[in-house]
Amino acid sequence: MYTYYIGIGSNLGDREGYLAFAVNQLVGIQGVTGVEHSNWIETPPWGPVEQGLFLNGILKVKSTLEPLTMLETIWHIERLAGRQREIHWGPRTLDLDIVWIETEAGQVVCVEEANLVVPHPYFWKRQFVLEPLREVYPHFSYEGVSISDRIEELRVLES
Ligand code: ATP
Ligand code: CA
Ligand code: CA
Repeated sequence: MYTYYIGIGSNLGDREGYLAFAVNQLVGIQGVTGVEHSNWIETPPWGPVEQGLFLNGILKVKSTLEPLTMLETIWHIERLAGRQREIHWGPRTLDLDIVWIETEAGQVVCVEEANLVVPHPYFWKRQFVLEPLREVYPHFSYEGVSISDRIEELRVLES
């Protein structure tokens, strides 16, 4: 059994509807035994493409699915939500990223495959990931730094 922390975002169409859709889809998947989520937060887009505000959050998913199977599952859900892959970092109805994985014993799972890198390469730089992650995982720390200290650091860097 794994615990997956999955970043979720939408900035096209019925954003809240797409996030709820993803949660409902995951709940119905065989091998998924629990889905919790953070509050949704509205955040400015990240990267060079001009586009609408995102609604972002984190899903905490308990599952027996192996990481690559979970990746296929989230691709499937993105496709069901009408996700088109056009501009990298561009607008999308639904984006699901596997941010962090732990085993039941609390061991961190690292993956380095062509299609899947976990921990997600940018998660520690992104407030829109860390703020909701803290809600579902308050004692999270990375490389000796607590998530709250990191959020503060990013706030200072941004101002
Ligand atoms: P970013 O990953 O910087 O948030 P993005 O979400 O816009 O960018 P996508 O176009 O959704 O990027 O995904 C590009 C590819 O990233 C996917 O096809 C997938 O194979 C790969 N990928 C690598 N690691 C992960 C991960 N941890 N979670 C989801 N996809 C990943
Ligand atoms: Ca993403
Ligand atoms: Ca993605």
